[in-house]
Amino acid sequence: MACMKDAWTWQVLNAGSFRLDGGGMFGIIPKSIWSRWTSSDEMNRVGLNTNCLLLEQAGRRVLVEAGCGDKWTEKERDIYQLERRSVVDALREIDVEPESIDTVVTTHLHFDHAGGLTTWDGRDPKEMVAEGISPRVVFPNAEIVVQRQEWDYALADRSTMTRTYLRTHLDPIADRVRLIDGAQEVLPGIRVRPLVGHTWGMHGIFIESAEGTVVFPGDLLPTVHHTHASSSPAYDMLPFETMQTKAAFLPEAAQEGWILVLDHEPATPVGRISQRERGGYEVVPIT
Ligand SMILES: [Zn+2]
Repeated sequence: MACMKDAWTWQVLNAGSFRLDGGGMFGIIPKSIWSRWTSSDEMNRVGLNTNCLLLEQAGRRVLVEAGCGDKWTEKERDIYQLERRSVVDALREIDVEPESIDTVVTTHLHFDHAGGLTTWDGRDPKEMVAEGISPRVVFPNAEIVVQRQEWDYALADRSTMTRTYLRTHLDPIADRVRLIDGAQEVLPGIRVRPLVGHTWGMHGIFIESAEGTVVFPGDLLPTVHHTHASSSPAYDMLPFETMQTKAAFLPEAAQEGWILVLDHEPATPVGRISQRERGGYEVVPIT
């Protein structure tokens, strides 16, 4: 554990709910199995959150993740059942202004993680695109920390999803990104570590707090139902690497007693990893 001067206070922010296809979220797990874990709607979609973290230390503020943001057409809102809520709403509820954020650390740059970094202030995205108006940055005083590989691959649109790395989310922040390579301390008491699988360049974020190490593993463990070895989103670029990354991560999380914050878990986003008596691992929620 870090010395106390490097300890961050932390709180989970709900940047809004959305829904994705259940098959997409659980990959090769058959519906006959995942439907016992969670319910789906008439379109086969499961309910998810976009959870973020606000970290504070000695007047310094760091945001982990930014959610989907608000640059969405009605059609897109309908497809993803996007709640009309952004991370800015969550921050304002606790009297934190976006201008006061010094650093944003994103696990990766898919739309549900990086969309909230920019906004058209509620104007119609189609009109904005037609008029050639760029979105503005939401956190004007923040640098945005991301792996260089994630940034390069996002710009190159290296994904099986053609609508997840969006230039309207990326171009406006291009002069604000701090590109890093591999595992390192990005601020005293905040480290990142590559967690390869969901994308080539995703990293997890490890925060020293008074309660112990808080870990934000991004889409390696999007919900409490993703501790199963084969339970990984069909959206993963490298499913076998996800399995290997998870096989290394879960025992370490259990042994170290890390406090996990799960990015898409709607019900119990905070928990610790515990080994099951019958084998495998589970998330034990902390409420
Ligand atoms: Zn993702």
